[in-house]
Amino acid sequence: MRVTLLGTGDTTGTPTVGCDCDTCTAARERGVERTRFSVHVENERTGESLLIDFSPDFRYQFLRDEVPLPDAAVITHIHFDHLDGLGNVFRVFDDLEVYAADETDPETGKSVAETVQDDYHYLDAVTVRPTAPLEPVRICGLDVTLVPVDHPPLVCYGLAVEDPETGAKLSLSGDTSYGLPEESRAVLSDPDLLLADGIVPADLCEYHPLGGRHEDADGVPRTFGTKHMTREGALALADELNAAQTRLVHVAHYYSVDEAFEEPLAIDGEEYVL
Ligand SMILES: [Zn+2]
Ligand SMILES: [Zn+2]
Ligand SMILES: [Zn+2]
Repeated sequence: MRVTLLGTGDTTGTPTVGCDCDTCTAARERGVERTRFSVHVENERTGESLLIDFSPDFRYQFLRDEVPLPDAAVITHIHFDHLDGLGNVFRVFDDLEVYAADETDPETGKSVAETVQDDYHYLDAVTVRPTAPLEPVRICGLDVTLVPVDHPPLVCYGLAVEDPETGAKLSLSGDTSYGLPEESRAVLSDPDLLLADGIVPADLCEYHPLGGRHEDADGVPRTFGTKHMTREGALALADELNAAQTRLVHVAHYYSVDEAFEEPLAIDGEEYVL
């Protein structure tokens, strides 16, 4: 399985439009970037590709990284930075299966699958496949399992992607606080590569109106506000899941310039063969 990190940024990306902070300035100078979230997974055995989330930067990402167009996609949740690129399907795809969870979100009264169906009803190429969480489905020759995570107020899902032939395993935390349910952690455990939401370092929690939560034994918050993990939370999760390799994704430009381009923070275009 070949994994390409097409988009490793948070909802504004790095550089952020109109921002001249040191981190955005350094990104421009170095020619590195973090566009909105998307991951491309190619099954080299079958030649098929799966796209995880449809970034608003879809067109740019595929031109830049020259990966094949996907045969299927998964949508983790309905926030702009993960869903709103789906309109790019128009006149580019003849047929695309889009997998999304089938559980009703109390916040919207609809499942992710129903929201995708309603928002993109005009796209004849899209076939939505409502999918039960915690049950593997075979997509592009890979076993994909959606797992509920914690991203209030919306439902959101992480996922495990496993090659049934080779045993290779990719896990994604999805957009989540550190408070993932135990049964979801069990599905994500022991990956060859973990992509974990690490939006900011824990010391920035003092600037969030809601502060941090899920503090560790030293009082370091593992959740920033309520929706995302801190760097420290993402690394703690990686440790608990026994991840062989970890990249932090969904990274904001609020990391200081000294930290923003250091390990294990991902940048766009990284590629892993599992
Ligand atoms: Zn900036
Ligand atoms: Zn989100
Ligand atoms: Zn997001």
